[in-house]
Amino acid sequence: LPEQEAFDIEYWLLEEAKLQRMPKPKSLAGRIALVTGGAGGIGQAVAKQLLQEGACVLLTDIDAEALAEAQGALAKVAGKDNVASVVANITSEEAVDEILKASALQFGGVDLLISNAGIASSAPLEDTTLEVWNRNQDILVKGYFLVSRAAFRIMKQQKLGGAMVFVASKNGLVASAGASAYCTAKAAEIHLARCIALEGAAHGIRVNVVNPDAVIRGSRIWDGKWKEERAQSNKIGADDVEEFYRQRSMLKLSVLPEDIAEAVYFLASDKAGKSTGNILNVDAGNAGAFTR
Ligand code: NAD
Repeated sequence: LPEQEAFDIEYWLLEEAKLQRMPKPKSLAGRIALVTGGAGGIGQAVAKQLLQEGACVLLTDIDAEALAEAQGALAKVAGKDNVASVVANITSEEAVDEILKASALQFGGVDLLISNAGIASSAPLEDTTLEVWNRNQDILVKGYFLVSRAAFRIMKQQKLGGAMVFVASKNGLVASAGASAYCTAKAAEIHLARCIALEGAAHGIRVNVVNPDAVIRGSRIWDGKWKEERAQSNKIGADDVEEFYRQRSMLKLSVLPEDIAEAVYFLASDKAGKSTGNILNVDAGNAGAFTR
């Protein structure tokens, strides 16, 4: 090679090597994320991942004690200035306004909404009281509507686009024995996401759904009566529940909160910039086929 050309190539290679060694900008740097149900197992895992990717996170939950604990643990990971919290019940319009106000005051707005708060309370149809039915509708449908409406209004005003991810459930697509109140509410949640996706598209607001199958480790849902109910419906012992779901999946793997967090992060990030109104099942291959 002529001398100048060889020098140019060497110079270029050195510059390239320098670039490779420079820390990469984080993919969610500058984004403000709101995570509902942030004190729970999946909520905390999601918040941790978003923080690691550079977002500021406002956690919200109805459980004040668990929320303070979650905020403390996450502040250790990402620094206390990047994570804030507000105690609120997502079924109350006023409380939801307070959540969005807190996000504006603390961080300046909202770019990412992770609607994840939830309960598990169900029974066979004949034993499903109106109270159980209404509780599912209130939290999983009305609550999701209120939070997404409030976030939508702000995202639209900001004119910066935005992303919403609903953590629904495989049970919103597939019927589950003895859980009609929960399954119906989760199905409505999924359809709400699709409807908001349609309205949001004109404003650059994407809305997608992550459907977990049973996430037993780390989830507080599975601490209580739900595990007994699921065990009874599937005619197994309460201690065998995780193994039951693992064996039922195509991949023979247990789904963990971190698996849901990866999927939520993907859909919330620009990596999924051309995806809206879609569903990503994170179920080790449970919804797709009968495996037993
Ligand atoms: P979790 O109980 O650990 O977390 C849920 C959180 O939501 C709790 O901290 C709870 O206090 C909060 N919450 C409940 N009602 C609320 C309200 N009215 N206002 C504000 N916060 C409220 O459960 P998780 O497993 O982390 O569940 C997260 C989401 O994932 C839920 O929507 C759940 O339906 C869904 N999901 C979970 C599983 C699973 O097996 N764990 C499977 C499918 C779907």
